[in-house]
Amino acid sequence: MGELILFHNNRWLVPDNPEIGFIVGDGTGIDITPVAIKVLDAAVRTAYAGKRTIAWTEILAGERAVQQGKELLPPESLDEIKRLRLVLKGPLETPVGGGHRSLNVTLRQQLDLFACVRPVRYFPGVPNPMKKPENVDVIIFRENTEDVYAGIEWPHHSAQSQKLREFLKRELNVHVRDDAGIGIKPMSSTGTKRLVKAAIQYALKHRRASVTLVHKGNIMKYTEGAFKDWGYQVAKEEFGEQVIFESDLPPGRPWPANRIILKDRIADSMFQQILLRPEEYDVIATPNLNGDYLSDAVAAQVGGIGMAPGANINYETGLAVFEATHGTAPKHAGQDKVNPGSLILSGVMMLELLGWKEAAELVLKALTTTIQQKTVTYDLARQMEGAKEVKCSEFGVRVIENMG
Ligand code: NAP
Repeated sequence: MGELILFHNNRWLVPDNPEIGFIVGDGTGIDITPVAIKVLDAAVRTAYAGKRTIAWTEILAGERAVQQGKELLPPESLDEIKRLRLVLKGPLETPVGGGHRSLNVTLRQQLDLFACVRPVRYFPGVPNPMKKPENVDVIIFRENTEDVYAGIEWPHHSAQSQKLREFLKRELNVHVRDDAGIGIKPMSSTGTKRLVKAAIQYALKHRRASVTLVHKGNIMKYTEGAFKDWGYQVAKEEFGEQVIFESDLPPGRPWPANRIILKDRIADSMFQQILLRPEEYDVIATPNLNGDYLSDAVAAQVGGIGMAPGANINYETGLAVFEATHGTAPKHAGQDKVNPGSLILSGVMMLELLGWKEAAELVLKALTTTIQQKTVTYDLARQMEGAKEVKCSEFGVRVIENMG
């Protein structure tokens, strides 16, 4: 039996045997989730020799919930996540074109997991398209609850969009074509400030040099532009001397020790910069849609989504879901074939949040060694010369062996 993780004064209080939830996930979730759990358990065992353990509790969602006669996302599962606070989650399926809404989005919204945190760095040996992939080392904080992802939209032929078009014409003298679908892009000071605050706190805690606000404020002034303004505002209000604005730095001056630089970039320019001069970026804070594109693009720079971890976190309530950033890859499901790296690395993020640094470092080191030994799953093997292709579960075993 494990003990509950508590959350007090914006801090997680972690016992030595925390009870942590896991969602197996659909499709390849049945392949990668057990492997990730085995690897994390082995790291904790090796690092702490039995003094610390994780008590895993399954939380039902997706296909596994339906198999047990429940809804896709049973209310008791949401309650269980709130009780346990931290969850490791495999991918969940969303049928295309109709059917139910994305369970992943529902989870993020129901639990108000406002920050999607995606660290992207290079693991030596992973095939990639960059000349100097080792220069990529960023943490992306993507706002998770607002923007065009808020789900406020209507089809072009609906009564609602007709009503809105009429309203816009009558009250605001704005003409929208009769055959246009309409979506609304809300962005609030509350949503922005809590995200940027979390990004700055992360940068300070992990001694990163800068936080960059990525926005499209030159075009969408009162949403994306306001995101930038609120970002600077919260830095000034809450962090004072700890943060210096790039615009206040005399040209050519080095980074002032113990202060982080806050800067902003327009999204299209950022896509170029992160490709050409990735070393200039550390922590990135950005609205939902920009963050969605940017995190996959940057992940591709270091070898793709098979190795990209992620977590959805509410830093005010202490709820966090650590998940593989790829989907269920249904054509590979149940074949013990796909790369469990993304979920393992999401587990590393979880260990770091627990404060179990030694175990986290052990997994990172062992994973790097395994890749350098070229014993990898099919996705990496097909791009690596001289690689030995291993199954998903075998990859996990190799990682555990490499913990020494
Ligand atoms: P996907 O499941 O990510 O798969 C696309 C392709 O990416 C796979 O065919 C495979 O490429 C590669 N891939 C994915 N996971 C991999 C892994 N662990 N190791 C190696 N390669 C991997 O994307 P999708 O087919 O668009 O989506 C399928 C379902 O997943 C949808 O229902 C979608 O809504 C859902 N989804 C869920 C999440 C989530 O739970 N957070 C996220 C994204 C999508 P190759 O076949 O070319 O090797």
